[in-house]
Amino acid sequence: GSEAPGKLEGIESWATWVGLNLLYERYLVKRKGFVVETPNEALERVASFVAEAELSLGGSLDAARQEFYEIMSSGRFMPNSPTIMNSGTKYHQLAACFVIPLEDDMDSIFSALNTAAWVFKTGAGAGFDFTPLRGRGSPLSFGGTASGPVSFMKLFDEVADVIKEGGRRRAAMMGVLHDVHVDLEDFINSKLSGGLENFNISVGVHDAFMMAAASDSEWNLYDPNECPQLVGLLSGDLPDLWRRCSPRRTVRASSLLEEAARAAWETGDPGLVFLDTINQHNPTPRLGRIRATNPCGETPLLSWEACNLGSLNLGRYVKDEGIDWELLEHDIRIAVRFLDDVIETSWYPRPEIEAAVKRTRKIGLGVMGWADMLAKLKIPYDSDSALYLADKLMEFIAYVARDESNRLSRERGPYPEFPGSIHKDGRFNFEPQVSSSQIYDESKVSDAVHSIVNSRPKLDWDRVRSEMMEGTRNATMTTIAPTGSISIIADASSSIEPFYSLIYIRQSSLFSWVELNRFLRDWLQESNNLNAEKIKDVIRHGGSVRGLSWVPSDVQAVLGTALDIDWRWHVRMQAVFQRWVDNAVSKTVNMRRDATVDDVKGVFIEAWRLKCKGITVFRDQSKGVQVMSVNQNI
Ligand code: ADP
Repeated sequence: GSEAPGKLEGIESWATWVGLNLLYERYLVKRKGFVVETPNEALERVASFVAEAELSLGGSLDAARQEFYEIMSSGRFMPNSPTIMNSGTKYHQLAACFVIPLEDDMDSIFSALNTAAWVFKTGAGAGFDFTPLRGRGSPLSFGGTASGPVSFMKLFDEVADVIKEGGRRRAAMMGVLHDVHVDLEDFINSKLSGGLENFNISVGVHDAFMMAAASDSEWNLYDPNECPQLVGLLSGDLPDLWRRCSPRRTVRASSLLEEAARAAWETGDPGLVFLDTINQHNPTPRLGRIRATNPCGETPLLSWEACNLGSLNLGRYVKDEGIDWELLEHDIRIAVRFLDDVIETSWYPRPEIEAAVKRTRKIGLGVMGWADMLAKLKIPYDSDSALYLADKLMEFIAYVARDESNRLSRERGPYPEFPGSIHKDGRFNFEPQVSSSQIYDESKVSDAVHSIVNSRPKLDWDRVRSEMMEGTRNATMTTIAPTGSISIIADASSSIEPFYSLIYIRQSSLFSWVELNRFLRDWLQESNNLNAEKIKDVIRHGGSVRGLSWVPSDVQAVLGTALDIDWRWHVRMQAVFQRWVDNAVSKTVNMRRDATVDDVKGVFIEAWRLKCKGITVFRDQSKGVQVMSVNQNI
């Protein structure tokens, strides 16, 4: 352009050293081992490739290309990693999340492995429901006995280990086993002795199971070989199952929950997936039941479905001690259009996947930089004010996103399964909702936060509902992803998590680095405390300032870290975002090392009670290798 030489533009003007490094190592297109594009060119590649969808959909390619480039290069929006990596390349697979079905036979299992290998090769992850596989010791038709779901998971793990393209990303999988399967205890404990490194595992639990655990009742476990109707059950079907099938074993539900909590206390796995809550919000029940999620749990999907995600960087919408709602609305609309275009331009590894994706056209717009936004507004993460703001902010995103999908439907037509959907009947994905008063106390919200929310544009849900009943473009609009990599690229705090620590070492498979939280750094500087002694003091204090006498109490409150924050606030934050999210919320409830197994059980029960769709805990230092850890020896 006409800029003076050397002047940086676009992402190159604001990206951090760490973000740029990540882009160079894993995202920029390479030929013969050499990077052949700049970071801005990479975003141009993404914008142009995705905007090509406009050609067949009757939109304007040039306008879309510019808008897409602008929201990415300004750091306000990032699509999920596969979209950045693969747009315009040979295997232009752009979605991050897949669910691949398996049945109880060799052909099906090996074909699923084959599909999974393609998914991993393109930097995406897949989830599987292993419930259809017969239990360990169950007879096989040619003689001998079956080795059970856990042994097959080891096979998937091996394949995932082998398939990683150029060391860019190690594969990620979710393994789900439903609470009625006879191998449940094997599954719960399957990560205790190491192995299954590429898996997150989750028990698919029913409301009936949680209630049986609460009342200390007995619980039946079945072998799908004897009882095929086990697959895809919901609580309402259980009485019929109990009548028709004879259980292999009967155990106390509370001891199973205890066992799951103990394993999670030790290793972080398993999490829980709440099957009834998920299926209560299934937008297309005619297409079947949802039995599994993608690897980090944020996207429950029907068999063969995939979902592409993108996240808005909330820290960038703080303006004059408030929120720039107008800019946010503008960006939500462009992001929705972008994600809908991705469905058209993506390459699909299997015809079944393409058919399933184009039947429901699910997209997942979410957020990152929530902790940044709170810190800029000086709101403590563990406060009713933060929960209230999250509630009103996510409602706004859900509202504008659905409104834009309705508009796209008028332009491009509704998703094909719309006639059999809840939308046709005028029901939003997030209905029924848990009430906000179960999650926070509005009388404790600060005046400042009330006034931020009062400046929000008026929402007319009735209008959006009646327009939706005429047609809407996407079966789901929103998802809150972990944003593990894209938050680094966008220089944002990840997802809706609090700061992990104010000083820490980040480790990726390629390098590690030290980071000092920018808000802490700014405050240290302003208060004349930016010196080695004070920094060492924070390090000795586990990367936290809470409880340090030289730090004023308001700074301590605003700079709370994941381990400072009580697990109840973590769960509430997940639940309050889930109130408005069509898919699910990926969140890790980080717990201090001294948390007990009972605390973990408390997290499980509270998450279920507040209608989360799943839950994951992680106790500090419970695993040998941690992606992020507080380092005492800097
Ligand atoms: P990113 O920041 O790279 O876009 P997220 O951390 O938000 O990704 O994760 C979103 C989803 O992307 C995960 O739930 C999973 O489906 C997929 N994913 C993330 N990391 C990997 C990985 N290493 N390998 C395969 N899939 C992954």
